[in-house]
Amino acid sequence: MVRTLTKLALSLAVLMAQGHAAALTVFACEPEWAALTQALLPGAKVYSATHHLQDPHHIEARPSLIAQLRNADMAVCTGAELEAGWLPMLQAKAGNAKIQNGQPGMFYAADHVTLIHPFKGTVTPFSGDVHVQGNPHLHADPRRLLAVARALATRLAAIAPAEKVRIDRQLQQFETALTDKIQAWEQLAKPLRGRSVVTQHANFGYLWLWLGMNPVADLEPKPGVPPTPAHLARTLEQSRAAPPMAIVIAQHHDPRPAQWLSGQLGTPQKMVVLPATVTSDGPDALFRWFDLMVNRLVQVAP
Ligand SMILES: [Zn+2]
Repeated sequence: MVRTLTKLALSLAVLMAQGHAAALTVFACEPEWAALTQALLPGAKVYSATHHLQDPHHIEARPSLIAQLRNADMAVCTGAELEAGWLPMLQAKAGNAKIQNGQPGMFYAADHVTLIHPFKGTVTPFSGDVHVQGNPHLHADPRRLLAVARALATRLAAIAPAEKVRIDRQLQQFETALTDKIQAWEQLAKPLRGRSVVTQHANFGYLWLWLGMNPVADLEPKPGVPPTPAHLARTLEQSRAAPPMAIVIAQHHDPRPAQWLSGQLGTPQKMVVLPATVTSDGPDALFRWFDLMVNRLVQVAP
């Protein structure tokens, strides 16, 4: 009896030790990667460096971020130079070998999908936030998100081998749920096919591609630089000639150009403000975000 109890206590201790060892600390550059990591490895200590009201191109390398990165077992970021203005400084100051480029602990989502619209021009200090390698806002395409989920699951399992079985199971659940959801969203979004939108920056470029929508004008021709009056006048003229279904901006954008345009067109109801990433925590955060975007767009489709 005593021996059985001792055995039981020992196996419990082993289990607890495994559980403890498995509490991976993950630094996510953006909330979508925090959400994905939590979906694949519930119980991991995940810290998101940014939230949905922040512009991920422009983040201050604050000491609190450096401290978080210093303690991380792994970092999950977008890559494709989205974080070029702040992540390299954090990596340098964190002094953490695990999350340096080329290490298994440094995961870039953009390395695992094909990017759209690489910048073909010459980059100057006046070019704005151009994306030379292609549009990095890839999480707005649920099919690319699935590809990233598979790659991230493999990487997480390599870093925490004791969790491999659980991660595989979580991935399978996520894949099944997302695949079903994609079908439902595509069905719901049928009225959006071929419809035109005026946008601001490339945040939803992958969403338009997935849903078959046409971004006909960009209120921010130079990324990160406010539009000139001449550009706004041109966009207005174009929008009068061929009225867009909606004018769509992200929550972290300056709303004034879109407000002005929808006001001039006399259709304030056409202005749609969407979060550029998840706005909540929890295993369903990514699904809720797509639900919100698709439903909101369908609402404005006449
Ligand atoms: Zn961008």
